[in-house]
Amino acid sequence: MAQYDVADRSAIVTGAGSGIGHAIAILLAENGTKVVVQDLDADAAQATVETINAAGGQAVAVSGDASSTEVVEETIKAATAMAPLKIGVNNAGIGGRSAKVGELTDADWEKVVSVNLNAVFRGTRAQANVMSENGGGSIVNMASILGSVGFAGSSAYVSTKHAVVGLSKNAAIEYATEGVRVNSVAPGFIDTPLLRKMPKEAYDALVSKHPINRLGQPEEVAALVAFLVSDAASFITGSYHLVDGGYTAI
Ligand code: NAD
Repeated sequence: MAQYDVADRSAIVTGAGSGIGHAIAILLAENGTKVVVQDLDADAAQATVETINAAGGQAVAVSGDASSTEVVEETIKAATAMAPLKIGVNNAGIGGRSAKVGELTDADWEKVVSVNLNAVFRGTRAQANVMSENGGGSIVNMASILGSVGFAGSSAYVSTKHAVVGLSKNAAIEYATEGVRVNSVAPGFIDTPLLRKMPKEAYDALVSKHPINRLGQPEEVAALVAFLVSDAASFITGSYHLVDGGYTAI
């Protein structure tokens, strides 16, 4: 039985070949959304599509860089070919090189800005315009707890995630009367294969920052996103939603 009112519409999920985006694409598809699985990694995108289609859902892959206007247009075409586009999840993101701000190169900075901010802007722009013409929809942009607090060694990441929160609030104000809701989501540290590769002491130090005393799971972030893009969240727009095990409550 569907848990979320998200059927009879299409969604674009960027970075859906792995981690949080993968979990979001799977959960939306389980609830009847037709999903465009967008990822830089074509094989990973295809694997998510096959998982969805094998379970009786409907998905197609669009590979490429989410910050490319051409790729964004391709996602819009692929989504509208399946059903009216009503959901956009601009989730693709990268951490970037860990270094103090004084040690970052222009290339370090621009790479993170390109994926974490430019791609979110171009996705939001295209999706909001289409949804406005379709009578409404819901966009979720993936921020982070680092959209509201800092983290040493991550100034480009922290800056882009703060910017994603601002962009989402502004777009929400501009499109509110057109039926397009825009929110941002702020996960704490989520247990991904990347974090599992850390030395045990570093992993345990991250865990200790979460009062709930563990890291989150991608499915726990996906549940919040599915709610926010569902019809049940019809009065929620322009806000920043934590899913962080208490990280920012301390
Ligand atoms: P992940 O590395 O598991 O997945 C990210 C996916 O994005 C990958 O499949 C990658 O190929 C894809 N990608 C990278 N650059 C891309 C580009 N230019 N265009 C299209 N796809 C691209 O990461 P994740 O942990 O699932 O993170 C997803 C989002 O959640 C990111 O925005 C990240 O900043 C955010 N986030 C993650 C955590 C965490 O602890 N994992 C915490 C807070 C926020």
